[in-house]
Amino acid sequence: MGYFINDDCINCGACLIECPTETIYEPGVNIGNHGKYFVPLSMDHFFIISDNCDECALFSKVRCIAVCPTDAIKHIFIKGV
Ligand code: SF4
Ligand code: SF4
Repeated sequence: MGYFINDDCINCGACLIECPTETIYEPGVNIGNHGKYFVPLSMDHFFIISDNCDECALFSKVRCIAVCPTDAIKHIFIKGV
């Protein structure tokens, strides 16, 4: 499970700073994982690697959603994947 970012994102970067698992990336940035790099999921807006998202399990709120000004972060359940 986890979250994803939709096209309502305005690339403010607030969510990246808040993410405790460091799984939010800037658009166009290659994804680093154990010394290997993979192509970005989006060239247009920030994106989340949902496999690495623990849904802020250690916190009382979902930190990225709490700071997003455009409500662009949705649960993967909504996307149906
Ligand atoms: S829900 Fe928490 S862990 Fe997952 S992407 Fe958002 S801030 Fe990061
Ligand atoms: S906080 Fe919201 S608008 Fe800002 S970069 Fe993250 S998803 Fe995009």
